[in-house]
Amino acid sequence: MLTDATHDPDLRSWVESANAPGCPTPIQNLPYARFRPAGSEEHWRVGVAIGDQILDLAAAAHHAPWGDGVEELLAPLARGNLMAFMALGRPAWRAARSVLSTALAADSVQGPFLELCLVPLAEAEFTLPCRIGDYTDFYAGIHHARSVGSLFRPDNALLPNYRWVPIGYHGRASSVIVEGGPVRRPMGQIKGDGEVPLFGPTRRLDYELELGVWIGAGNALGQPVGIEAAEDVLFGITPLNDWSARDIQAWEYQPLGPFLAKSFATSVSPWIVTFEALAPFRRPQRRAEGDPPPLPYLDCPFNREHGALDIRLEVWLQSERMRAADLAPVRLSHSNALDAYWTAAQFVAHHTSNGCNLNVGDLLGTGTLSGPGAGQGGSLLELTRGGRESITLPTGERRTFLEDGDTVVMQAWCEAPGATRIGLGAVSGTIVPAA
Ligand code: CA
Repeated sequence: MLTDATHDPDLRSWVESANAPGCPTPIQNLPYARFRPAGSEEHWRVGVAIGDQILDLAAAAHHAPWGDGVEELLAPLARGNLMAFMALGRPAWRAARSVLSTALAADSVQGPFLELCLVPLAEAEFTLPCRIGDYTDFYAGIHHARSVGSLFRPDNALLPNYRWVPIGYHGRASSVIVEGGPVRRPMGQIKGDGEVPLFGPTRRLDYELELGVWIGAGNALGQPVGIEAAEDVLFGITPLNDWSARDIQAWEYQPLGPFLAKSFATSVSPWIVTFEALAPFRRPQRRAEGDPPPLPYLDCPFNREHGALDIRLEVWLQSERMRAADLAPVRLSHSNALDAYWTAAQFVAHHTSNGCNLNVGDLLGTGTLSGPGAGQGGSLLELTRGGRESITLPTGERRTFLEDGDTVVMQAWCEAPGATRIGLGAVSGTIVPAA
């Protein structure tokens, strides 16, 4: 059984807003973030979202009556150190979820004490959940790989390695930012008409709809993590936007892959939804008829049966003129993480298969998660067929790639029969002009 009492759809919280139908943060979710009162200079604290509130774990650890061992369990969270908690591993993650679920449930012993430890979500500001040591971006969206490949290689869209090896590259951790912040249009080298390239602002600024996988307990250098054990290093998931400058990318990517076209910014939601919370939404890994089975080091029964995640994804856009005219964002596309060709456990097993060590707080991007249909491209590159077709906005403006003032919002959530819907938060960013 993957699920337990913490997933029970009948479970209710004493925080009334958490019980409203469609609330992204019901008691079945319990995502973690680091926050403080907006505009304050206070230390960052770890909180758990519940309804329209955040339970401040620094206050909660000390102000409620807890059972034996709970204060020790919550100690890293009480210190504001989510990373130290992530390093504790799955038994601690499970135990903390169970404790918090019980404490936030209707009529709990701790409820009257914890009421004093709530901070309204709307009054908080956020930072990254932890210091990210390394960021690796995979390429698990097969529909993205195929449609982008077909733009460049019409006869050979999917390269022969794709169905065998989880493709990825080492991204830049220093420029991973919390959603909501401005994203500056990058400068770069762009192929010109003649032999000499130009240096200037990108003209083909794009987003990539992805999920980020947060690594908990890591592995020692030289000690690969097997596919079965890989589950135990997976802490949680967050929506991720891998901003991309397509003209810079096209000029620089051969022969070593993406570099400055990607490293100027990657946006993530501050909230981490744990793999425990995602248990009701785990599904069999999808493989098309005739596709080869994964090599043995990427294959095990659990991964085959439960490796994939049923996570719904959407991208919305609002231009500056739309904002001025009070026009709501328009939905550009939608897809589902079930279409990813490789699972999070396969990312870990493959990444460490050569002995490479993953560390607590490392971030793995899935790659652009596009669906198979029209309107399911996870980037403008796909939706506009490489800039050949434009999208018309409600103001009459046309878009092939992003303009200054555009706001991109990505949303992710899970819903399934017999389970309570949970939100994975949003990741937004607004383009500001090149410096
Ligand atoms: Ca990417």
